[in-house]
Amino acid sequence: MRRTRGPAGAAVAVLLASVAMTGTAHAAGPAAEPIIDPDRQYADFLATRGADGSWAGAPDPGGKAKSPVTSLSTHPKLAVRAGLGASPVVTGDAPATVVNVDGTKVEIFLPAPGVTAERLAASLRAHGRPHTRAIAPGRAAPAGPNDCAYGQARTLYECRYPVSFWQNNGHEDPIVRFNDHSGASWPVSNAVSKWNQVPNIDSWYYWNQCPFMAGARCVDVLSGNYGPGDQDGAWIGKVTFRWTTGAGGPLPEQGTMLQLNDYHDPKTGGFTRNMVTTHEIGHVLGLGHNLYSGDVMAAAAHKREDIGGENATLLANLYSITR
Ligand SMILES: [Zn+2]
Repeated sequence: MRRTRGPAGAAVAVLLASVAMTGTAHAAGPAAEPIIDPDRQYADFLATRGADGSWAGAPDPGGKAKSPVTSLSTHPKLAVRAGLGASPVVTGDAPATVVNVDGTKVEIFLPAPGVTAERLAASLRAHGRPHTRAIAPGRAAPAGPNDCAYGQARTLYECRYPVSFWQNNGHEDPIVRFNDHSGASWPVSNAVSKWNQVPNIDSWYYWNQCPFMAGARCVDVLSGNYGPGDQDGAWIGKVTFRWTTGAGGPLPEQGTMLQLNDYHDPKTGGFTRNMVTTHEIGHVLGLGHNLYSGDVMAAAAHKREDIGGENATLLANLYSITR
C-alpha cells in the first residue's frame, strides 16, 4: 500500500474532504490513503514501471495476484446471434456521456452517484480539461447489428466520431491484455474473464505484468483514492484512449488505460465495484453507453452485473471481420 507519500498534510486533506461530503461517498475505506492526482499517478507509473509492465507502486492485490491468465477453457466464447427479441424499454432519459476529446486523447468518465454528467463536465472544464462535454444519448433506430448499434447497445460515441476498434494485428482475434495494478477491492480478473466470452475479441487478465507478445496490447488498470470531486475526482471510473495520429485519428494501439477511484463507497453510493469494473472494461473494448438504464453499459445507475446479450452481440459483430 502507498501510505507514506503524503504525511500530515494529506491526512488533514482527507478529514476536510469527509466533512464536506454529501452522503453518497465517504473516505472510510481508503482513509489511510492520501488523495492522489490521477494524472500525476499515471506519470509516476510511466516513469517507474518495469520493462515487463510491472509497477512497484501497485497496492496490495489480495487474491488477484494468483489469478491465472484468462483462458478459453474456463471462459469459453458465447454463442451470440443477431436477431432481436423484445428489446428492454428505456426508462426515463438516459444520462449523457462525459467525454474529454482534446486532440491527443479521449477520456470517458463514469460520474459518481448523485453527480450529473453536466455538473461533472463543467467541473472538469474548470479544472484543466476545457474540451470536456456531456454528450446526450442518441436515439438512432437500430438497423443492425452494424458498427454503431444493436438493439439498445451502442459502440463508442454512437458513431458520431470514427468507430474505434482494436485491430487483429495478425491474430485470429484482437488480443487485449489487461495489466491490473489495482487494489484488492476491484474485481478486474472477474470482469475481464466475463468479457473474454465475447466472440471475435480476446480479453486476457494479468496481475501487474504484461510480457511482450507480438501483435497483442497491454491496457493498464490503476486504482487509487482520487478524492471526492471538488476538482476532477467526481467520478468512479475513467477510461483514457490516446490518439495515434492526431485529432480525429484512429484510436490507439498503445497507451489505453483505466483508472478506478477508491474514494466512493459502494455501500452508500448504490453501486458495486464489479459493475463499475465491468462497465469500464466494456468501454475499453469499444462499447459506448447502452440506452437501457438497467444495463451494465448504461451511463449511470446501471443495475446489472453481467455483460448483457446485446452488448456481446454488438461487440462480436464489430470484430467479426479482420481489420
Ligand atoms: Zn461509461
